[in-house]
Amino acid sequence: MSEPTLEVSKSNGRAYVSFRERMKADPRWHDWRWQMSHRIVTLAQLEPWVNLTVDEKRAVSFSEGRFRMAIPPYWADLVDPNDPACPIRRQTIPTMDELKSSVHDLADPLGEEQDTVAPGVVHRYPDRILFLVNDVCAMYCRYCTRKRIVGGGYGVLRGDEFQQAMDYIRRNKKIRDVLISGGDPLTMSDERLEQIISTLRAIDHVEFIRLGTRYPVTLPQRVTPELCAMLKKYHPLWMSIHFNHPKEVTPEVHRACGRLADAGIPLGSQTVLLRGINDKPTIMMKLMHELLKIRVRPYYIYQCDLVPGSEHFRTPISTGIKIIEALRGHTTGYAVPTFVIDAPGGGGKIPLMPDYVISKSRKGILLKNYEGKVYFYPERASSEITNGALPLEMKLPQKAARR
Ligand SMILES: *Cc1c(COP(=O)(O)O)cnc(C)c1O
Ligand code: SF4
Repeated sequence: MSEPTLEVSKSNGRAYVSFRERMKADPRWHDWRWQMSHRIVTLAQLEPWVNLTVDEKRAVSFSEGRFRMAIPPYWADLVDPNDPACPIRRQTIPTMDELKSSVHDLADPLGEEQDTVAPGVVHRYPDRILFLVNDVCAMYCRYCTRKRIVGGGYGVLRGDEFQQAMDYIRRNKKIRDVLISGGDPLTMSDERLEQIISTLRAIDHVEFIRLGTRYPVTLPQRVTPELCAMLKKYHPLWMSIHFNHPKEVTPEVHRACGRLADAGIPLGSQTVLLRGINDKPTIMMKLMHELLKIRVRPYYIYQCDLVPGSEHFRTPISTGIKIIEALRGHTTGYAVPTFVIDAPGGGGKIPLMPDYVISKSRKGILLKNYEGKVYFYPERASSEITNGALPLEMKLPQKAARR
């Protein structure tokens, strides 16, 4: 849990702290349904929580009727009331930058519409599908890739749409992996979610089911013992959880992930690289360490998609590569996710790596390790080379020599 009392120095800060303390004293604080029905969605509701800037106040008013704002009280409590640069605040409270458009903006940055083959079903890769079951999340991330649908009031797939989606999956025997996402599938009741998962589980060729969610982070109270008991009936079931900053890993989140892991659900993380929020190697390293401590395996870091109004969040592509370079070798291998660009227009996820290969030839490969030291590994066929010794023509390769 954040410690607002320690962070607040301004005299007006005390008002925010005492307001938060009063809210947290309500026993219903721990009930996710109470949290959902008390989400902060208007400027007037937000003002007692945060000392808003003029820019934020204008942007919050504008966001009504555009990409909406919604903040569970639990998450609002993590927002620093007095620091407009707070990483939680920047993900959550709109600024006027969001209304700016860029030449690169794409309403549907990943070309999901063109790959939609049945209601909610995005079929891009041969053996797996993305199944978008609803459009409601606990908190709306200001950079959301699916702004075009998320929070738009479409709700959940209707019964007939759901049947069409299931028919498609049943007919396509190549689909062995279904990733249930949205919106956020954990917005649904345990019963509704169980209907979907059990219907999928009854299809023989569906070997592997995944849930993509942010609830364990933005509203960890959602992860009840009842939810975990339901999910564990449908193994193998995995979960990808959207985490962006070490500040998000609170004792509540720790408990929620512990429950999921104890239910035998392997947990992975997905992180969006965001300017001014998590674009420093030290912050990412700390996040990855916090994740390992709560049994979440870092999976992907995403380059920020070309969503309208997200230009202020986007980093140079080199930032992500430098972060991977700062992690690989310097810390636990399990703490190193894959940095990917989800290709605009629907090319799928493409990994980007630091360049560890200095040169390749028939004789072998010249490599650089995490410290920048150079090593040679011979190809098996080139028997004239003794292992470890550099062949003459590779002794001073141009790239390495220039370093
Ligand atoms: C991300 C994604 C998947 C899953 O990809 P993995 O690399 O297997 O995690 C599947 N389908 C679509 C359309 C996706 O965007
Ligand atoms: S949780 Fe995911 S789908 Fe929901 S607003 Fe955030 S990024 Fe978008």
